[in-house]
Amino acid sequence: MTATRYGADRGAIEGLLADWGEPGYRARQVWEGLYRQRRPLDELTTLPGRCGPASPAPSPDALELRAEAVSSDGTTRWLWAAAHDGAQMEAVLMPSLRRATVCVSSQAGCAMGCTFCATGQAGFERHLTAGEIVEQVARAQHASPARVSHVVYMGMGEPLANYDEVWASIERLHHDFGISARGITLSTVGIVPGMRRLAQERLPVTLAVSLHAPDDALRERLVPIDRRYPIAEVLDAARECSTARGRRVTFEYACIAGVNDDPDRAGALARLLRSFGGRGGAHVNVIPLNPTAGFTGRSPSDARVRAFADRLRGLGIGVTVRRNRGSDVDAACGQLRARSPFLPSRPASARMGP
Ligand code: SAH
Ligand code: SF4
Repeated sequence: MTATRYGADRGAIEGLLADWGEPGYRARQVWEGLYRQRRPLDELTTLPGRCGPASPAPSPDALELRAEAVSSDGTTRWLWAAAHDGAQMEAVLMPSLRRATVCVSSQAGCAMGCTFCATGQAGFERHLTAGEIVEQVARAQHASPARVSHVVYMGMGEPLANYDEVWASIERLHHDFGISARGITLSTVGIVPGMRRLAQERLPVTLAVSLHAPDDALRERLVPIDRRYPIAEVLDAARECSTARGRRVTFEYACIAGVNDDPDRAGALARLLRSFGGRGGAHVNVIPLNPTAGFTGRSPSDARVRAFADRLRGLGIGVTVRRNRGSDVDAACGQLRARSPFLPSRPASARMGP
């Protein structure tokens, strides 16, 4: 299969244009337009002939727009389908005043089966390619007035179950788009061998680990992979990543009423994370549950979430309660491909279509 537009790295663009007999600087113009200026190819009007807007080079986009939903706070959620096989994935743009964050999918579906997660409930379809991941960021940038400075792998899929393609996409985002490694966060359910591999990588991306419970008996009810990679091993691997780069690790904790939201659990969690070295060593993101069709759990009251967060803070652990941005369009990161129907949507041609 020919490389898709964002599947073609700089070398591939150079090779393609050289085959066409184009001068060497032309590849640099295309590459700079797509990556440094972050513009869609059809806006690069300075390019002549075969390299220009009407050109098939570098070959076409991998993704077709299926739906778009814009929230009142500017959060935008897209449902993309791979042009060649229809595999669906979602991406979310979260703009703020001077910067923008994009949440990307790393797989179509997910095989991990976390009980509270809409993606896990739907099952696994396939891995995404590096080009498909990079294109989610590029297409979000095209819609964003602010420069995309942060990318979080918190959409559909488990990034460490698709290590090679995910890592290739991270290198492209860093080297080509110029996004700082610290601005890239990879969230994992705790695939220990992948975390150990990550600890050896040169680029110090930020690690987030989805814990959701302080003990294995509870965690394995929410996160089935806990049976294979129990909490102690996950924390060991997280410590290895943290030590390797002197970076703080974030732990995600989806707070579910009556299941894992007792403040005593916050106490147990704080004891577990103490070995990361107090404030700055480990940080907890408390995420009030987004209800999903396949899970009966509910989100705790605000007061209950606050009590949980306060207990952690009182025990010296840094905490953020993560607001669900764009929840009026179901755009909460981590709950992608959410409840159907996907609402509200515009036809593809309204904004991003060919
Ligand atoms: N597979 C990776 C990354 C994608 S999920 C992981 O599990 O870490 C990103 C985050 O959203 C994870 O912490 C996940 O547990 C959380 N999440 C998934 N479904 C959720 C829901 N319904 N409510 C709150 N958080 C959810
Ligand atoms: Fe997969 Fe993450 Fe959802 Fe678990 S929470 S099913 S690992 S996407």
